Amino acid sequence: MTSLFAKRAYLEARWHEQVRITIDDGKITCWDASTSPLPSDELFDIIIPGVPIAHSHVFQRALAGHCERKSPSDRDDFWSWRSNMYKLAEKLNPDSLKPIARQAFSEMLAAGYTSVAEFHYIHHSGDRMHGANNMFDAIVEAAQDVGIRLTYLPILYERAGFGRSNLNTTQQLFALNLDDLFDHFSYANAQADSSMSVGLGVHSLRAVSESSLKQVVNLAKNEECPMHIHIAEQTGEVDECIATHGAKPVRWLLDNFEVEDNWCLVHATHSDEKELASLSSTSAVICLCPTTEANLGDGIFPMKVWKTLEGGIAIGSDSQISINPFEELRWLEYGHRLVLRSRNIYAKKPSTYTGETLFQDAVLGGNRACGHWRTPLAPGSNADLITINEDSPILAGHKSDSVLDALTFCGIHNAIDRVMVSGQWVVKEGRHVTSSKLEEEYAECVNRLWN
Ligand SMILES: [Zn+2]
Repeated sequence: MTSLFAKRAYLEARWHEQVRITIDDGKITCWDASTSPLPSDELFDIIIPGVPIAHSHVFQRALAGHCERKSPSDRDDFWSWRSNMYKLAEKLNPDSLKPIARQAFSEMLAAGYTSVAEFHYIHHSGDRMHGANNMFDAIVEAAQDVGIRLTYLPILYERAGFGRSNLNTTQQLFALNLDDLFDHFSYANAQADSSMSVGLGVHSLRAVSESSLKQVVNLAKNEECPMHIHIAEQTGEVDECIATHGAKPVRWLLDNFEVEDNWCLVHATHSDEKELASLSSTSAVICLCPTTEANLGDGIFPMKVWKTLEGGIAIGSDSQISINPFEELRWLEYGHRLVLRSRNIYAKKPSTYTGETLFQDAVLGGNRACGHWRTPLAPGSNADLITINEDSPILAGHKSDSVLDALTFCGIHNAIDRVMVSGQWVVKEGRHVTSSKLEEEYAECVNRLWN
């Protein structure tokens, strides 16, 4: 049994003062506000829930910053970036994937992310010597080593595009037929425990046939697990979807599948108002990854429309170009401020706080996308939380109401002190508890990959 006492805590979507939280076996057992500390309590200034990453490709941590040099052809876009990403994928094996994943997972924890949905489709090593179970083992061992909560999503990727029947050369790394995917799902699921669960996904509509998608969706429904898909990230794939199916991706998906509340649609960037209006009745979550979407030049999701429809959102670190939940939330808002020439767009109701509203929605939606259905930090939920020092300069002059606005918009300084996952401290004084050793192993691995 552990007990924490905080001057202020953001619990069950509102601020409380003088809060005592008790934790047992990795779960919140109860909390009381307007109370006093007991001698055995650990004392903190501010406690807030940890943030889930609803979309991650952890291996891409080793690519961050390597794709910013203008190409000789002067045609730099998502597809040219993807060519570089494929070159990295060809170099991976379980021995390199593990230190990369450990580094990225530890950085996620230090930034305040406490769980991650890993959308994984590199099912073979570059030398073709290792298969899906070996690559999964590397990811799950990395997550266990650093203590992040993992939702593993084995992804079906079976063709190079709409109307194609096979994969191109590098995409052979992603190849699993349906039987192999389901066997791999069973292998991963057999290892599930209180800190690791397994969902399912398909890469995108362009990457799978309708009949295969149906079978993956049915398994996710039967297993009551999360179902993830990239949808409408690029205008090119939207145009191909219209040419093939006569409809945009979200419209076609809704017309042909029963999209339910276990679905997470990643990058619904190029969706229109009618598609979003239909989607909002399903309770599916849309995952947005603003720093990756900006880095790749994807476009801007019509967030104001989705917010008006009261649709759920989650955030992802995706390509790992940034690993910082507050930066994702800030740019989710800023993209729209720049386009709409307005301010405080996400906070729909008068007198509500933009940073707080973004944070609250991303924590709720992110947990759902990861398959965690309990209200964060409510009794029975996972003890996944962040502590903040109130003497951080960015919080000077802020009462509770605007603490999350300061954390979101005053991006000059990381005010995180400690991070807890499943009742265990994994970050202290702003650093992962084993970060220097991880950094050495990561640097050695990545230097070898790039040189
Ligand atoms: Zn992605």
